[in-house]
Amino acid sequence: MSAVTKRMEDAALDGKARHIVPLSGGKDSTALAIYLSQQYPHLPFEYVFSDTGAELPETYEYFERLEHVLGKKVTRITALDLLGVSEKHGRSPFDVVLYEHFSGFLPSPRSRWCTRMLKIHPFENHIGGDKAYSYIGIRADENRSGYIGKGKQVMLSEEPNIIPVYPFKDDGITIGDVQRLLDDTGLGLPEYYQWRSRSGCYFCFYQQIGEWQGLKERHPELYEKAKGYEQGKNGRRYTWVDGRSLNDVENMPRRDIKQKSDEDGCVICHL
Ligand code: SF4
Repeated sequence: MSAVTKRMEDAALDGKARHIVPLSGGKDSTALAIYLSQQYPHLPFEYVFSDTGAELPETYEYFERLEHVLGKKVTRITALDLLGVSEKHGRSPFDVVLYEHFSGFLPSPRSRWCTRMLKIHPFENHIGGDKAYSYIGIRADENRSGYIGKGKQVMLSEEPNIIPVYPFKDDGITIGDVQRLLDDTGLGLPEYYQWRSRSGCYFCFYQQIGEWQGLKERHPELYEKAKGYEQGKNGRRYTWVDGRSLNDVENMPRRDIKQKSDEDGCVICHL
């Protein structure tokens, strides 16, 4: 288990390790990629995105724009690389894992296999046995706990060769700085922030009712796709929202989106 963390100034001196910036499509990890490329132009950062195949169109478009800002490609990795399964039209990495490994059992806050299978394991597979620094965009003004248990620091992996670094914490970078970094490059915030509070899959179960309704308005085809998963398999029925189907949700009165704390939700998908 990796208990070791490094301060930014020490990691920056290590010319032998890999320097990996995992991206979620959210504001903090994106701002971190920009910050690191500006502050440490000599370091060979690898920008990596674990693609579930179920991200919002706005997220893919945002990465394209980010690549222009960074002058470097964002490497897309998926669970299919890990499973040795080839890409097939109409079958996302999420579909493969859902139906071939979880018998159609949808992930939920209590059974969050999606983060482990679609984000963490592909990331570890991509790094292999190499020594790597994993740069995490937790800001100095927040106090998120990690994926693995309350109170633990946020990290994408507990593998001992993957060493987490928190440049924003080390350098006192707060939400105002993040906003400035994004604005100064012309990138701004991802467009989905107009109707949704966080990055992640279009069907993420952390969405509020108002966000599901926003999905229905902005991307009706994705809303219908999300409904399709609710039919489940083998006569068993699973829903994305506890106790309600998406048919119910679309018939509910329109709800506003409450601004949630950055410290809620999935720290890996929503950074
Ligand atoms: S965004 Fe939500 S549904 Fe997608 S992998 Fe993360 S926790 Fe799971």
